[in-house]
Amino acid sequence: MKKKKTTTERYTLADLENWREAAGDVDPPIRLGVFGDPVAHSLSPQIQNAALKQCDIDMQYARFHIRANELRSALRFLRELDFIGINLTVPHKIAGFEQLDEADNRAMRAGAVNTIRLRDKKLIGSNTDGEGFVRAIRSEFSVDVRDLRVMLIGAGGGTGHTIAWQCALENCERLALVNRTLEKANALAKRLGPFFAGPRVFGPAPRLEVVPWDEVALRAQLAHVDLIVNATPLGMNPSDPSPIPARLLAPHHIVFDTVYGPSRTSFLRAADEAGGRGANGLSMLLHQGALSFSIWFDREAPIDAMRAALAL
Ligand code: NAP
Repeated sequence: MKKKKTTTERYTLADLENWREAAGDVDPPIRLGVFGDPVAHSLSPQIQNAALKQCDIDMQYARFHIRANELRSALRFLRELDFIGINLTVPHKIAGFEQLDEADNRAMRAGAVNTIRLRDKKLIGSNTDGEGFVRAIRSEFSVDVRDLRVMLIGAGGGTGHTIAWQCALENCERLALVNRTLEKANALAKRLGPFFAGPRVFGPAPRLEVVPWDEVALRAQLAHVDLIVNATPLGMNPSDPSPIPARLLAPHHIVFDTVYGPSRTSFLRAADEAGGRGANGLSMLLHQGALSFSIWFDREAPIDAMRAALAL
């Protein structure tokens, strides 16, 4: 049989179930990928395939459109396949954690996983989003998270949990947690409390706070915040509103949108309008992807080749 050189745009659960039929003739073979819904936007294949090529590793990384109710089956099928590992993206990071056989400290702390390595049919989970976030903030804004007062929007999600934990570990100046479902932010704050018990503060506001997502509460908080992070999917659709309207933002604000796409998100446009600085999630994608590559192959990732693939 003639080998196919290219992969399908997106594989599905049915393809995973019949993997030999769906992709057995793809060359180089698919041994890595990302599960998500939506997933068409993901640029992970771009950076990981550039890294594989640069390192002369004869395999490919593909996209898998896996819905929330399909994740358990998808991971069950994956155990039986000859895969190196997988990334999980929206909305699977928290649900995926429950399916792991083992997890490292990063995944355990956040209760969320973005990188799975397969070993003897076991799923070993890690999380590279936190460190990827810190590196992205440093490279985009030449500042360290530990020196910032951070507002995190979307604190109830897998990425939000991970970024919140990373901010705590970095000992950032203060952390304001915002989430559509307030109870989830409250539960997270309870666990993070001890990290913020120390006296490191340069103002009257408490170091750790849960903030309702309403204009009055946000306005009061934003006077005591430097960095505002969007860890919700708002912005993935061009018609999405900005998580915070431009009228509440000020020129001193640094806005980091974990969402990335071909056009500037509504949140970044709001930052522009307010005279603040902003960056999208491409650099976080790059750094978390490089860390995932190192987990899978136990070697340093060729970050320049990965960056070039994103034209950053
Ligand atoms: P997730 O686990 O599904 O979490 C979604 C979070 O967003 C929750 O806090 C949820 O609030 C909130 N949310 C969802 N829809 C909302 C809406 N319409 N209005 C307000 N809040 C809403 O997803 P995730 O995996 O953390 O991913 C979140 C985003 O981060 C995605 O856009 C993803 O692309 C991005 N991301 C980017 C990178 C990167 O490298 N650049 C890495 C990781 C993630 P509730 O708790 O109330 O449901």
